[in-house]
Amino acid sequence: MNTQEIIELEKQYIMQTYKRADFVLERGEGVWLYDTVGRQYLDAGSGIAVNALGHHSEVISQAIKGAAEGLLHTANLYYTVPQTLLARDLCQSCFADKVFFSNSGTEANEGAFKFARKWAKAQGNPTKTGLVAFSGSFHGRTMGALALTSTLKYRTPFEPLIGDTTFGEFNNLDSAKAVINDHTCGVIVEPVQGEGGVTPSSPEFLAGLRELCHRHNALLIFDEIQCGMGRTGTLWAHQDYSVTPDIMTSAKSLGGGLPIGAILVTEAVAQTLQAGEHGSTFAGGPFVCTVAHAVLNHIQRPEFLAEVQAKGAYLAEKLQNLISRTSSIASIRGKGLMWGLVCHIPAAEVMAAAPQHGLLVLVAGEKIVRLLPPLIITEAEIDLLVERLFNTLLWLEGQR
Ligand SMILES: *Cc1c(COP(=O)(O)O)cnc(C)c1O
Repeated sequence: MNTQEIIELEKQYIMQTYKRADFVLERGEGVWLYDTVGRQYLDAGSGIAVNALGHHSEVISQAIKGAAEGLLHTANLYYTVPQTLLARDLCQSCFADKVFFSNSGTEANEGAFKFARKWAKAQGNPTKTGLVAFSGSFHGRTMGALALTSTLKYRTPFEPLIGDTTFGEFNNLDSAKAVINDHTCGVIVEPVQGEGGVTPSSPEFLAGLRELCHRHNALLIFDEIQCGMGRTGTLWAHQDYSVTPDIMTSAKSLGGGLPIGAILVTEAVAQTLQAGEHGSTFAGGPFVCTVAHAVLNHIQRPEFLAEVQAKGAYLAEKLQNLISRTSSIASIRGKGLMWGLVCHIPAAEVMAAAPQHGLLVLVAGEKIVRLLPPLIITEAEIDLLVERLFNTLLWLEGQR
């Protein structure tokens, strides 16, 4: 079947909730993706922060081969080795004492919100049910997570969403003070906002939230689904801040391409959930946990994270130079290998034009082009990324 036939079949048989690029991807190697007619693209989106080790990774292929010899699924009625070892290593990598596994990011956040509600009830506070999020937040698409996601375009068609949710202004502590009170059971924030515009939290903001949560006896929840797993140059984004949460959610890169999410909690939170109060059929299966374990152990090596930092600094410098070479970029912001280009032109135009120049990029809102290359990208590939981005912008400028 040729490209056009595949596209027509997709339009006939798949719900049209995704706006797709007009080529069909077939295989990948490292940062490179190839379509069915053999065109090559540098993947600066990593399948939206998922393919941290790139495509066709040797580390992941080896783990999959091993996992394929073992159990695929058992149900969470039984103990398995891979789930237990992954949980141990996740806890040892950060503040957390215990883990609950999920199958996706939005499910991890759903669990976090349920845990916050249950935790407050267990304190003898049955009416302490308020959940707080911030402008620019993205926490997922299920009814609960959507209620804490700020983007109106995602929310409005599905209202009413779950109640007792409030939004403060991101990176504005006065605004946070106005919405966090004794009624609040949980406050969720991305240490570096992804979808909302690639905006790092200020250190004062995160420290202030920690203090407000202490004062009002609320749980602080960090959503590290996009910014975690080495993306910003530390294993967890918050480890570059002097603040730890009570709950952290992870997904995306955690499985290296397979679906898995995790809710990492302190012992105090874990103690408030009893057997049977939360669960999942698929989550934490031995196959996916074996692969996630290999991904985690590869990424958390200090030499790997040091390289992410060095390559991130290199990319930032190249992007900074791009500002003076084109008239489309106003500024850049980000951390590690997570960057946003604040553009004078619609970001969607850049995303749509980039494939013709052999590059795949993402957007984060109307004016921000988002770059999340695989963490294994080399300096030479960063040069190609920036050159292709430059060519895309130049071409767009020529169209005006
Ligand atoms: C992608 C994302 C989610 C949702 O994850 P899914 O796996 O798509 O459900 C939640 N929070 C953040 C910060 C994300 O980037």
